[in-house]
Amino acid sequence: MEKHDTIIIGAGLSGIYAAFLLARKGESFIMLEARDRVGGRILCPAYNGYTADLGPSWYWPAINPRIAGLVEMLGLTGYPQYDAGNGRFQTMDGRIQTISRCPMEPESWRISGGMITLVNGLLKTIPQDAVRLNQPVCEIEQKTNHAIVNVGKPGQSPCCRYQASRIILALPPRLAAATILFTPDLSRELTQAMLRTSTWMAGQAKFFALYDIADWRNAGFSGQAFSQSGPLGEIHDGSNHTGGPFGLTGFVGIHAAQRRNKQAVIQATLQQLHHLYGDKADSPKTVFYTDWAMERYTATEYDQRAAHDHPRFHPPSGHACIWHGILCFAGSETSDVFGGYLEGALASAERSVRAAFQ
Ligand SMILES: Cc1cc2nc3c(=O)[nH]c(=O)nc-3n(C[C@H](O)[C@H](O)[C@H](O)COP(=O)(O)OP(=O)(O)OC[C@H]3O[C@@H](n4cnc5c(N)ncnc54)[C@H](O)[C@@H]3O)c2cc1C
Repeated sequence: MEKHDTIIIGAGLSGIYAAFLLARKGESFIMLEARDRVGGRILCPAYNGYTADLGPSWYWPAINPRIAGLVEMLGLTGYPQYDAGNGRFQTMDGRIQTISRCPMEPESWRISGGMITLVNGLLKTIPQDAVRLNQPVCEIEQKTNHAIVNVGKPGQSPCCRYQASRIILALPPRLAAATILFTPDLSRELTQAMLRTSTWMAGQAKFFALYDIADWRNAGFSGQAFSQSGPLGEIHDGSNHTGGPFGLTGFVGIHAAQRRNKQAVIQATLQQLHHLYGDKADSPKTVFYTDWAMERYTATEYDQRAAHDHPRFHPPSGHACIWHGILCFAGSETSDVFGGYLEGALASAERSVRAAFQ
């Protein structure tokens, strides 16, 4: 069994930022990630050198000091969301109205190269052999002054066991409570608090269409639209800021149970774009689509109905750490500062590293 000082579980932004902080302190660690890629809810497929954000697209420099600082530290380029021109509004019965520009408050910014540049920039500061992909943690056992982490797929016997003096659990608390066995049992109060903490945006599906020409811009539209009839409920311009490709992107507004047929959702979405922006809008160069509610390492059964109101997040049941400090919580949904957002992912990583090494 491999023995380590610290194991970070989850290589989303929170886990990777915790790894960056540990590397900067000269601490030794490994990071176990269930998927075959890093980034978690940050997912950016590429087309013609442009990366489309299928997870988070925006940060808010005016109120997200950690993300703004990270963008600067990594030498990345942020740029404001394009919103010049009129918007569109689609009623319940599909009728379309033109509405005046609806500026986002505070101003939303995108990152050139997509949000994955945050992850890739941080990864460069971490020893490469510390990042272990395809390592779904299924059980964490508390021992006297350390913990044992078991890795394995559901229904299979654990394939690897690791020992560490400290664990940083950097995944949504609901997902952790629903999929990881904790030995000894967590208290009922803590388990319930974790299960009740919804995973922000886990019930959503996101669509991206890329074009060579932005016909909507040429017709005086910003690309921003709101729809009561769907499939997309909210649409924005998702173009490359230095020229093409140009993009329209949005959140699918229908319930996860009605999205099972991916091709049907994509076809209906292209039809909707045709109605909103003209006949060329239904023939993009490429389309990207991810249904986060179907992602085993993001969503649980409880996330199938998307939460619309932003909850107030906290460390679960007020615990930053449990098991006498052996296991500390990170992950955006454990942050009481911008919980659920990228900023919260960084804030929770800072808190967990501080708590684990106090
Ligand atoms: C569609 C969408 C749009 C969003 N828009 C925005 C936005 O515009 N601005 C913003 O600030 N935020 C936005 N968010 C939220 C933002 O993506 C999250 O706050 C942030 O990415 C959370 O990072 P995290 O590291 O805490 O969690 P995650 O990214 O969920 O990372 C958790 C990691 O743990 C891994 N994992 C899970 N189970 C296990 C296991 N058993 N063993 C090992 N590893 C495991 C996962 O694979 C994942 O890599 C959006 C999210 C989505 C889905």
